[in-house]
Amino acid sequence: MKKIGVLTSGGDAPGMNAAVRSVVRKGIYHGIEVYGIYYGYQGLINGDIEKMELGSVGDIIHRGGTKLFTSRCPEFKTDEGQMKGIEQMKKLGIEGLVVIGGDGSFRGAKKLTEKGFPCIGVPGTIDNDIPGTDFTIGFDTALNTIIDAVDKIRDTATSHERTYVIEVMGRDAGDLALWAGLSAGAESVLIPEKKEDFHDIVDRVKRGHDRGKRHSIIIVAEGVGSGVDYAKKIQTELNLETRVTVLGHTQRGGSPTAFDRVLASRLGAKAVDLLMEGKGGRMVGIQSNQVVDHDILEALNLKREPEMSMYQLSLELSI
Ligand code: ADP
Repeated sequence: MKKIGVLTSGGDAPGMNAAVRSVVRKGIYHGIEVYGIYYGYQGLINGDIEKMELGSVGDIIHRGGTKLFTSRCPEFKTDEGQMKGIEQMKKLGIEGLVVIGGDGSFRGAKKLTEKGFPCIGVPGTIDNDIPGTDFTIGFDTALNTIIDAVDKIRDTATSHERTYVIEVMGRDAGDLALWAGLSAGAESVLIPEKKEDFHDIVDRVKRGHDRGKRHSIIIVAEGVGSGVDYAKKIQTELNLETRVTVLGHTQRGGSPTAFDRVLASRLGAKAVDLLMEGKGGRMVGIQSNQVVDHDILEALNLKREPEMSMYQLSLELSI
């Protein structure tokens, strides 16, 4: 393979830039021309493509967001959209594509591979919801952003003796809430994968209050329900002053952590290795600190569950 493309797609995640840098530099290292495709699959269809040089990815390893920008592109879900994308790459002689994104983006990559155009998926999403990898690029940074916010909220919660409900991202996946709950010492963690009895939550807050705790922190993944609603219910039930913070898109931004930069660098490089071996339809990941690859569809068909022993531990530690 002499020419490859790289794009970022779907929800952005800190560390995507480090992954793009890795793909570009690793490709050039091996004498491959690397093309950056802007605005994800939309840019692919439109031919918004530029040849990358070593310097094109200079000074981005520490930046959040994605230099290549991203988009959601409904047209790409159609056969015609995918064929247009392939045509654009063929015009430039591009023979393989690295797609950095979440599960939706991976499905697009698989479709291109089925149409004869080899693609490799690199998992970039803060949700840590992709099977076949222990961690996705961006998860660690988002987690640290949450922890930073919770620690600050804890200061004011203690000063005022308040209960705080903090809503974090995770529509279908509870990893962010679960890891945040454990590392921030939350009383309760509510995740989509585990139904929690509301009265258990109330009981835990009450027990803490009765033994003189001046604050309670409850972390709710957005997929479980609105943090505002939970705060209201708890206030009504316990008559304790309750506040809510919805962290929202702050969780998507910021300089990637060292962990995410290293992960992105390793996974981006592996994607180039696979294309050089003539492989497509694969996703890369990290399992037990080893870089691995799997068939994209087989991986996506597996259900990724959070580590439930961590959930149990969070309950035991917030006794
Ligand atoms: P993420 O990659 O973060 O999960 P999305 O689910 O929004 O984000 O997917 C990003 C883009 O990937 C979509 O806008 C679309 O262009 C493409 N895509 C998603 N699902 C498919 C599919 N089944 N077939 C082809 N392309 C898809």
